[in-house]
Amino acid sequence: MTQSDTVFVQPAYSEAARQMLARKPQLFINGAWTDSSHDALIEVEDPSTGKVVARVADASDKDVDRAVAAARAAFDDGRWSALPPMEREKAMIRLADLIDAHADELAELEAIDNGKPKTMAAAVDIPSAVSEIRYMAGWAGKLNGETAAPYAVPGGKFFGYTLREPVGVCVQIVPWNFPLLMACQKIAPALAAGCTLVLKPAEQTPLTALRLADLVAEAGFPAGVINVVTGYGETAGERLVRHPDVDKIAFTGSTDIGKHIGRNAMDTMKRLTLELGGKSPVIVMPDVDVAEAATGAASAIFFNSGQVCVAGSRLYAHRSIFDRVLEGVAEAAPGWAPRPALDPRAQMGPLVSGEQLDRVMSYIAAGKRDGASVVTGGDSPSDEGYYVNPTVLADVNPQMSVVREEIFGPVVVAQRFDDLDEVARAANDTCYGLGAGVWTRDLAAMHTLAGKIKAGTVWGNCHAMVDAALPFGGYKQSGIGREQGRQGIEPYLETKTVILRL
Ligand code: NAP
Ligand code: MG
Repeated sequence: MTQSDTVFVQPAYSEAARQMLARKPQLFINGAWTDSSHDALIEVEDPSTGKVVARVADASDKDVDRAVAAARAAFDDGRWSALPPMEREKAMIRLADLIDAHADELAELEAIDNGKPKTMAAAVDIPSAVSEIRYMAGWAGKLNGETAAPYAVPGGKFFGYTLREPVGVCVQIVPWNFPLLMACQKIAPALAAGCTLVLKPAEQTPLTALRLADLVAEAGFPAGVINVVTGYGETAGERLVRHPDVDKIAFTGSTDIGKHIGRNAMDTMKRLTLELGGKSPVIVMPDVDVAEAATGAASAIFFNSGQVCVAGSRLYAHRSIFDRVLEGVAEAAPGWAPRPALDPRAQMGPLVSGEQLDRVMSYIAAGKRDGASVVTGGDSPSDEGYYVNPTVLADVNPQMSVVREEIFGPVVVAQRFDDLDEVARAANDTCYGLGAGVWTRDLAAMHTLAGKIKAGTVWGNCHAMVDAALPFGGYKQSGIGREQGRQGIEPYLETKTVILRL
């Protein structure tokens, strides 16, 4: 791959971005910007340069307690849940419209904060965030219970029905890979259901969540319905999850932290949904247009620098076309050569942090030590910023850490297969079960694999296509529960059964 035309210089920030970065560090609690109870700050880096560009509040225990108290009071007095559903829907649509109206600014902030290309944030993150809110807003007025006739008693003696009620105060903790999108995916069903919430963005990427809070205020939500608290997972996150006044936790992040949060939440039996890690297979059957499938396999792993929970990180190509598929992915790689996030030519940016760069490089080193060969990439092309070249590893086996563990970087491992049953077994040989891509024109093979693969989503001839109307979530250790679609609002509702003797 030639990198000669790549200069790792981040273009200048806009005036709007500079203003946001220079803001006083504050928390959004009870409908107002408020100082933290202590002076501790979190530094925010631009991963394209590795430089600190802003500071945000590191919420104290007191701050967390204030945010939960605000959400609790806003839930308990019904200022949100008792509104006509039409009013909740209208407020949500106003918020969606405001995000839309600030799309360019939000895309730039996301690029500065996370390192993803601004063009990608503008094409994917921001419009998807808007559509999550618009879609869920429509459910606010459609959350009905049902009548139910008793089964074991004579007819006409009893009458039963169910009510759907909001679950209460929700704590929503999101990761750094799609900061605004994950935040909106979380708040939308909670708001539609009538819940109140405290949102905690990841320490690496707090900027768009804070800007979202401005728009929440502008949209006219009642105070305390949406609170945004920046802070570290081990302190603010931990306290939020253990807080006795919280009813539900929704978490997206790593499987290890998800398990830890699950244990903490269980002490007070909080409702819990978890969206966790993955090691998603991409299966290329022998009948495909090889060029098209190889291009698709490359996007499946290199999009967002591979920092995607459903990244197609294990490539299985049929033996008869394996070499050609590998060649095609390697040929696509230079198009994904990393560039600074605000460079309009960038398809792929740096990784989010130095920690993530070290983690990805140490996986590549382990793969090489274990005997993997590097087809392309494998290196970091710049001393400044956190760039890794798109990497393809071959000659791997199912025992290697690069095949078994989530790398969360632009690294794909490629393996051969001979028949459908064999590749289904290989695809399922993982503790994860989030997504899988199948490339084929053979309908029988497509449906057979869709049935055999243990994953929350199976894609045919595409990858990582996610839509607000379609449930998303994991089998096995990729999570508990579903987000999006009708199923995505269920975790925000309790069911109450009312039984009357006639
Ligand atoms: P992470 O370390 O698990 O962090 C995720 C969030 O949890 C952050 O806000 C973090 O705060 C917080 N946190 C950390 N420790 C906590 C604790 N003890 N109590 C409460 N909260 C705590 O994950 P990450 O490395 O940022 O994100 C990458 C992972 O997310 C990958 O495994 C990826 O697969 C997964 N992911 C899954 C999905 C999905 O939908 N299934 C989507 C995207 C990403 P700090 O940032 O302050 O530590
Ligand atoms: Mg972290």
